[in-house]
Amino acid sequence: MKYCLVGAGFSGAVIGRELAEAGHEVTVVDERSHIAGNCHTERDAETGVMVHTYGPHIFHTDDQEVWEYVNRFTAFKPYVNRVKATSRGQVFSLPINLHTINQFFGKTMRPDEARNFIEAQADMSIENPLTFEEQALRFVGPELYEAFFKGYTQKQWGCHPSELPASILKRLPVRFNYNDNYFFHRYQGMPEHGYTRLVEGILDHPNIVVQLNTRFERNQAADFDHVFFSGPLDGFFDYKLGRLGYRTLDFERFTYQGDYQGCAVMNYGEESVPYTRITEHKHFSPWEEHEGSICYREYSRFCEVDDIPYYPIRLVKEKALLSDYVAKAQQVKNVTFVGRLGTYRYLDMDVTIREALDTARDFLNCNENQQPV
Ligand code: FAD
Ligand code: UDP
Repeated sequence: MKYCLVGAGFSGAVIGRELAEAGHEVTVVDERSHIAGNCHTERDAETGVMVHTYGPHIFHTDDQEVWEYVNRFTAFKPYVNRVKATSRGQVFSLPINLHTINQFFGKTMRPDEARNFIEAQADMSIENPLTFEEQALRFVGPELYEAFFKGYTQKQWGCHPSELPASILKRLPVRFNYNDNYFFHRYQGMPEHGYTRLVEGILDHPNIVVQLNTRFERNQAADFDHVFFSGPLDGFFDYKLGRLGYRTLDFERFTYQGDYQGCAVMNYGEESVPYTRITEHKHFSPWEEHEGSICYREYSRFCEVDDIPYYPIRLVKEKALLSDYVAKAQQVKNVTFVGRLGTYRYLDMDVTIREALDTARDFLNCNENQQPV
């Protein structure tokens, strides 16, 4: 069988690999000049630092099979994401933990005291928080909300936190101990030679042909037995029903001799600073030594026609449009829509890989069953 994978990110690469290993002929196309999609990494020519071209990516998962899968194709180095935040003229630790709370309120509380203290600040009348703002007021209270979440979120999403769902904030924990690991997963690490090397390993199979700088158009689906499309769902239909809203990011690059900020990611909680965060990429590879440093200031704004889509907005209006597109997609028989753009969802890398493995296996199982004995 001849299969086409549109997009050489994790979705396309992992599904392609599974199909290739099952003996099928696989073509992977991407309109970009490189593989690995938004997880692409490359060395900066000036400093030699490995840069996460489309923003910081840290691999973390509880899924043992996915962890073993990625380790099959490249070596991972231990890496713990420790994020800092600048607000009100001080540097704090994120996610909010006992250190943040004690420093912010000028106290020396123990865990139970801090929990009681925060509960006294929190708005306990909000029983079932629906919005981002309600979630913050209910779990951290107004002061921490104002310092760390309100301005950042306004910049990141371009709207007031009362217009956003609580689920966005639920991604971040609040801890009453000194654990400042941003993630809580069993496995966490950084590919030693970058994500692009990892995806290269996945795509390295004799049944896979990769075509870069190649844009896939809808009518090409007829040339294949089946297509897995990891590009934008609305784009596949030429935006006929309208555009699904995304936030895009602008990165302002600057270099520095030495260590600019002492950590990989520094968030800026206040609205008066126009960017959301600064990423200093050499801290993602602490096992390497570089004199020079490369940093990106990150600005978020609404995604226009020719911009790169990053974060799906997924408010009520977008969800209604999404269900119209999903209905259209279900009528296209030999195309499966996958990945963060094809399904219009925020997906971490591990979830993307898990879904890709499951999609390929289900597809292969179904096809096997259909074949005449
Ligand atoms: P993509 O990587 O977007 O790949 C899709 C590919 O399809 C692209 O290369 C595109 O060029 C190509 N394409 C689209 N349309 C066409 C077409 N018509 N023809 C040909 N090619 C086409 N996840 C984590 O686990 N940890 C993190 O720390 C993390 N940080 C993130 C930070 C940011 C700023 C963002 C936005 C995401 C982050 N993620 C993180 C999520 C991660 O980026 C995604 O899980 C991953 O990129 C999804 O892979 P994908 O293959 O579905 O999509
Ligand atoms: N957030 C915030 N302040 C911060 C970090 C995060 O207000 O310093 C909010 C913001 O709205 C963000 C959400 O919490 O979209 C989830 O944070 P996460 O770090 O998961 O953001 P992402 O990885 O999506 O950029």
